[in-house]
Amino acid sequence: MPDVTEAVLADLLAFLGDSPTPFHAVASAMSRLEAAGFRAIAETDDWSSLAPGRYAFPHGGSSLLAFVIPDGKRIAGFRIVGAHTDSPNLRLKPTPEYKKEGYAQLGVEVYGGALLNSWLDRDLSLAGRVFVAPEGAAPKTGRTNVEGRLVRFTRPMLRVAQLAIHLDRDVNDKGVILNKQEHLAPIFGLEREGAKTLATMLAEELGVTPERIVGSELMLYDVVTPTLGGRDGEMIFSARLDNLAMSHAAIRAVIDAAPAAGAGDVVPVAALFDHEEVGSETAYGAQSGFLPRALERIVLGRGGSREDYHRALAGSLCVSADMAHAVHPNYESRHESRHKPVLNGGPVVKINSQQRYATSGSTAALFRDLCARAEVPVQHYAHRTDLPCGSTIGPIASTLLGVRTVDVGNPMLSMHSIRELGGAKDPAMMTRVLTSFYGCPDPGGP
Ligand SMILES: [Zn+2]
Repeated sequence: MPDVTEAVLADLLAFLGDSPTPFHAVASAMSRLEAAGFRAIAETDDWSSLAPGRYAFPHGGSSLLAFVIPDGKRIAGFRIVGAHTDSPNLRLKPTPEYKKEGYAQLGVEVYGGALLNSWLDRDLSLAGRVFVAPEGAAPKTGRTNVEGRLVRFTRPMLRVAQLAIHLDRDVNDKGVILNKQEHLAPIFGLEREGAKTLATMLAEELGVTPERIVGSELMLYDVVTPTLGGRDGEMIFSARLDNLAMSHAAIRAVIDAAPAAGAGDVVPVAALFDHEEVGSETAYGAQSGFLPRALERIVLGRGGSREDYHRALAGSLCVSADMAHAVHPNYESRHESRHKPVLNGGPVVKINSQQRYATSGSTAALFRDLCARAEVPVQHYAHRTDLPCGSTIGPIASTLLGVRTVDVGNPMLSMHSIRELGGAKDPAMMTRVLTSFYGCPDPGGP
């Protein structure tokens, strides 16, 4: 039997590689959940008499909820692990194709707080979602049942080329300054008579006629696959560790916790949200009503009342899982002393008194206790008090639900770069702690 750490790591690398966009991440998560006996349901289904069991549904294609309903009638609370499916990147504008100076180029927009320089001189391709109208529908009679299909080109087709140093002599002293409008458009090829349009390429890729394509959401990604790195393979080199690594841990943990959950009275929930990197205020983000609505429907679907739902929320706990900053050896002064997480040092509890993280004294204590029980080391992060701190879905979800929340994450470097760096031992440790969190009884208290 393969070592658990190795198995989690191998599955994480596959998940990262299979998920160039949030749409692909949700599909990758759904396939793992369905393989583990989670039944796909829809929000439009009737939930009024939900049987005990494992369920999952995608919301809007880029968010997802998975949960386990225990055998007993009474639901005492929820154990929610929240993470996000989106990562900063470059996305195509609605009419992207144009020609300039003999090149074919694509217009892009920056999504989230990307480290723009990291997108230069990479072998990039396109992935996302394409909307396909049904066959035979006449354009002027109206179309129904437009279908969203995932698409992914795997060959390197695009390049955001950096200016040669001979034309930018100060670059190494003054830094790379990129104007988002002027300098980020990738080169798609050389201008040529009769060259395929992007729409034709999409149609060919999907095996449909170009007229059937009625829309698309396409993003750029680096074709280099995730890999183990470092002298002994002790690190992970990959895109999108923030925050697919925590999305993966949430999904693996809810799968691992499912067999024991049947006998309990709490509902383990894995909640993956889109749009964290742009503020979460969307129909698919952590601010959306879809999570509280689903939680309420679970209680009502087991014969509970609205009062029972409110009681269950009061007995609930949430872990907001999002990657954390490991100490950077070349910039150690950017870190707060005594709060410098190291790679492979275990989960990091994130604390900020301005509440940029949702952790409280009691939820931090609870998480430390869970780590001790799972025999996993725990680390702490606080931002330098003279630097503005980033945030997570933690404060948003905890505000919306009024549920006690702790912000945690695995340590990493190069956050928001196209190629990030994490520890190879941390994923299995976080998965183990989250699995035990799902079975954690209500500790009471503040
Ligand atoms: Zn994040």
